[in-house]
Amino acid sequence: MPELPEVETVKRRLKEILPGKIIQSIEVLHKRSFGGKEKDLFGQEIQDVSRKAKLIRIHLPSKLNLLTHLKMTGQLIFINDDIRVGGGHPTADWVKDLPSSHTRLIYNFTDGSKLYFNDQRIFGWMRLMSDEQVAAEFTKYGPDINEDALTAEYLQKKFSNRRIPIKQAIMMNQIMAGLGNIYACDALNMAQISPFRPAQSLSFEELIKLLSVAKQVIQEGLEHGGTTYDGKYVHVDGMSGSYQDIMRVYGRENEKCRQCGGKIVKAKIGGRGTFYCESCQR
Ligand SMILES: [Zn+2]
Repeated sequence: MPELPEVETVKRRLKEILPGKIIQSIEVLHKRSFGGKEKDLFGQEIQDVSRKAKLIRIHLPSKLNLLTHLKMTGQLIFINDDIRVGGGHPTADWVKDLPSSHTRLIYNFTDGSKLYFNDQRIFGWMRLMSDEQVAAEFTKYGPDINEDALTAEYLQKKFSNRRIPIKQAIMMNQIMAGLGNIYACDALNMAQISPFRPAQSLSFEELIKLLSVAKQVIQEGLEHGGTTYDGKYVHVDGMSGSYQDIMRVYGRENEKCRQCGGKIVKAKIGGRGTFYCESCQR
């Protein structure tokens, strides 16, 4: 699943290339992937591309927006002759001729370029929404992990009555947005906090430490263009991330902890694979 650094990376690439493009038509190859009236898009010039949590917002005139959630397997790939930019879930579709069997939507721009929305498992979506609808959607999300509004005081308040494992609590979008499974595991390892600890049991000092390292792992993810770890990664210049090369615990079962040399073990918390060091995370 694309995490925040991957989504931010896609957003940055599209922000450089989409503004100014005028939508001539859209081909909806799978109905569930698109919400809205297709004709409302015709002739619209893209103004900007931004992000909140893992949602990519393509700004259009007249207070309209194309809101996108890549979910598990979504990709956005822009193609114009020799230029190919985008990203999301890493598969061979990054490099193959498009459309592929996973292409759900094709946006045709007046200059002949195209934007493909590919989504193998069809959980992702692109929806045409007014500014008001976007604002309503955003109320489901707390501050982004890399926003200044997110402080240890804020987390202490949010966690004060929660007994769920800290690993699950820091992944709750309504508390803070953008810390997915890989980065949550790594942040807890760096803070040397057990993922099983009840959220409310963390001291203020531990929350300060956890927040600081969580911001750090997200920042490192951004600097590396995110991660393409899923066992079948495809390397394309400018599209693939390399955070997997520096992962602390995620995907490193039975290997040595980079903090203390202890053994990394795997467990399940809230149905998600959780990697941690059994020696130093307490
Ligand atoms: Zn350790």
